[in-house]
Amino acid sequence: MDRATVPWWNGMPHTSGRNEPTTPVPFDPYPPDLATCRRCPRLAAFREEIARTKRRAYRDQEYWGAPVPGFGDPDARLLIVGLAPGAHGSNRTGRMFTGDASGTFLYASMHRLGLASQPTSVSRSDGLRLTGAWITASARCVPPGNKPTPDELATCMHWLKHDFDGLRNVTAILALGRIGHDSVLRLYRERGLRATFASVPFAHGAVHRLDELPGGAEAGARPLVDAFHVSLQNTNTGRLTSAMFDEALAVAKSVAGLD
Ligand code: SF4
Repeated sequence: MDRATVPWWNGMPHTSGRNEPTTPVPFDPYPPDLATCRRCPRLAAFREEIARTKRRAYRDQEYWGAPVPGFGDPDARLLIVGLAPGAHGSNRTGRMFTGDASGTFLYASMHRLGLASQPTSVSRSDGLRLTGAWITASARCVPPGNKPTPDELATCMHWLKHDFDGLRNVTAILALGRIGHDSVLRLYRERGLRATFASVPFAHGAVHRLDELPGGAEAGARPLVDAFHVSLQNTNTGRLTSAMFDEALAVAKSVAGLD
């Protein structure tokens, strides 16, 4: 994978000396170890198989077929944690929530709330910029059936921590779905948060003050807001409507101090 083609930092290419962001680079969202990661053999094989076989509608396109980097504003106060790349969305385009229906739903809402420069997200070169928000995922490679195993999620925690540690200005987290919620909890529990999973249940619209729980401050925990995942499974069935998601995103934005 040619890392120079990745639109870092809200779309700017990551090259030394040219087109660099004006703010200091706090971390590299796509280090070589991530770009070439094969720690989960099943997922590495699957992402590449999808990239080879392709969907008929995209047969003329070159699929990304590799781990997907986080995307957004490096000064983000709001960190959004999704599940994993979509097979023909970000596994095709190489950018979080880009090129499929989930992204259409998510970025339209982020645009309404002033966090995205445009309501659509079709490719890495479409000009989309995020303000105040960064999007990452519990697993960086597309899993069969959208279901990473617990072991794969535990393995990819390494890369979730990479974004958590690299983004220094985060003040709140929005989890998209229960897996994102559990990943955030697991990360902070490893760092000293003394809260059980049962005591912090996932619930759409809930605000969990992890920072105020025992061990939360020591773990560097941030408040966690929950929303149903923006998957077609939820949005097509009416389990998650645009109004519901806008409301949860507005709460997360407010908790992050982005109002
Ligand atoms: S899911 Fe994460 S840990 Fe597993 S191969 Fe992909 S990038 Fe590596």
